[in-house]
Amino acid sequence: MAEQKTFFKREICLFCDSPLDDSQKYFEKDLEIPIAVYCVDKSKWDRVGEGDREMGDREKGEWIPYNISICNTCSTPQTLYLGDLNEVYKINHADSTGSIMKNMHYEFMEMIKNYKGEITNFLEIGSSKGELADLILSSNEFNNKDYYIIEPNFFGVPDGKKILLGFYEDIDDKVIPANTLIISHVFEHFYRPMEILNKIANNHNIEHIFLAFPDLQYYVHNNVLHVLNTEHTYYVENSFLVDLFASKGFVLKDPLKFYKGHTVFMHFSYSKESKESKGCLLLGDTVKHRNRDNVINSIDKYFSDIKSSVNLFNKFLDKSDSKYNYIFPCSIHSIFLLTFGLDLKKLSGMLDNSPNKIGKTVYGTDLLCHSFKKIVENVQDDVSIILNGGVFNAEVMESIKKNPRIKVFF
Ligand SMILES: [Zn+2]
Repeated sequence: MAEQKTFFKREICLFCDSPLDDSQKYFEKDLEIPIAVYCVDKSKWDRVGEGDREMGDREKGEWIPYNISICNTCSTPQTLYLGDLNEVYKINHADSTGSIMKNMHYEFMEMIKNYKGEITNFLEIGSSKGELADLILSSNEFNNKDYYIIEPNFFGVPDGKKILLGFYEDIDDKVIPANTLIISHVFEHFYRPMEILNKIANNHNIEHIFLAFPDLQYYVHNNVLHVLNTEHTYYVENSFLVDLFASKGFVLKDPLKFYKGHTVFMHFSYSKESKESKGCLLLGDTVKHRNRDNVINSIDKYFSDIKSSVNLFNKFLDKSDSKYNYIFPCSIHSIFLLTFGLDLKKLSGMLDNSPNKIGKTVYGTDLLCHSFKKIVENVQDDVSIILNGGVFNAEVMESIKKNPRIKVFF
């Protein structure tokens, strides 16, 4: 049987359809990246062989080529190789148990509330847990409004919601009587966002769009490594998104609202003769980044910061005489470093506090994810920990200080 291909190559720009020129690959040679960033259950492998045998490469998970291309026309940096979606998203690893996501939904709702008088019903594209819907439906501000969710893998509480199981691309949204569209941390995952946007533009019921998008502009300048990986496959500036929606008749209605360097909220409303305020972008125009040099400089800084981190971490691991060496957290922020040469062999594992990860193996590697809390509180050996958690480092430092056998590096 022919082996199924786990990735394909992007030949044209995801926004403007311009051909992507192979001679302009960002990295001279293709790198490699694990296709997914979730953790997998190791017991699956133990059952295959005898106990604790070494894992074969296939069982660890697939790595695919990695490179970037910056479109000559619209200046959007995008990954050149796209993983099979079934593999990329096989396991939902979105941990929304933390307060950051919860507060984000709350802040988003506050913005939506300002338009409660104009909203008929809600339609949300992609929401596996329906958390924002829960919040909105339980608020007194939005009485008697229906909340439709289009989502292939819904596992939240369905009560009170109208769930349409499937992909947005496959569902007739014109029959849904809702004038307010919500897209929260979903638009950045689409391989072909223009198909989605064109479909939205053809649904003439939609008058308001509320978009929650990762603040990629903040990410690239602040060493948040969730840009240009297998899930977030493109980088755009916020003004590009504003122009993009304007080109379909959805005009930015409120100033951008930023949430903790995590998310940017945008509110667009439909206007047939829309003209974007600053760039005078006309309806239907090809959208381009306003300043190509800005984009390139941002991306250059992003990757040069990553390479510096990898260098420092590898030097630290080289010199370490601890019995065990770990990196915290067990997420894209650490996993992405593997693509840029973080020395996997010198690591004893990754650390995290998420129950969805502890005791499981990091996809594409044989590194186990251990409980950060347990290691810090109980370990009797000399341990070194690389703290790669950005804003979360400060939070975990307190607990580390109590154990003198732990060395940290950050
Ligand atoms: Zn383009």
